[in-house]
Amino acid sequence: MFKKEIDKNNREEMVAFLKNHYRYFTMRSWNRSTSYANNMKIYNLHLPFETKDKLYDMLEVDDVWFQLGILKEEFAMAHGYQWQVGWNGRSSGYLVLYSGGRKKLDYKSRCISCGQLNYKTTEESGCRCGRCGKDTRVNLTSPVYQSYTTGKSIDQDEDFEDWSLEELQERVDVVMDFDQLCDDIVAEAAYMAEKYDVEEETYYVEKTRKVLAECKSA
Ligand SMILES: [Zn+2]
Repeated sequence: MFKKEIDKNNREEMVAFLKNHYRYFTMRSWNRSTSYANNMKIYNLHLPFETKDKLYDMLEVDDVWFQLGILKEEFAMAHGYQWQVGWNGRSSGYLVLYSGGRKKLDYKSRCISCGQLNYKTTEESGCRCGRCGKDTRVNLTSPVYQSYTTGKSIDQDEDFEDWSLEELQERVDVVMDFDQLCDDIVAEAAYMAEKYDVEEETYYVEKTRKVLAECKSA
């Protein structure tokens, strides 16, 4: 649906592909920065009516977004976090290609009970967790990274005239991968719509409060 085959030895074809690709804002529309994007609104997808109808319900289910998030993460990982994707627009109807990166955070230890991260090693400050109070802090065996995206426009008003063939091929590869990801996300959503129904479930949240209790000695 989104992915097109492009002849990567044909300069004009690649330039036309990049110039005519659908685009959307990277941040808010007043910012005017745009990047490669696809319109992922349900009505725009080539899917059977019943599937679309079900997808509207499924968008309210956290598990669905979690599952689609895995595909997004795989894309970022495959591109060394230099290229990432994100939802934008009202009701997140557009998937947008973002430039980004990954930075190493300075955390040295983590509490395995509650997940709290700490900038000190256990040698420096013991195993007690400042958040949950348990003695379950351990030193990290590998660094923690955080990925980030920039709202910078990508190839906005670019005419590609002084781009080498290799540069063009590289960019076309990224955008083709992006289109493939959009197809994969639609396929995954359609699969979930086929396999699952959306049901409502009531759940109770455990909370703590202070109450009066009669003194045991009274
Ligand atoms: Zn803890």
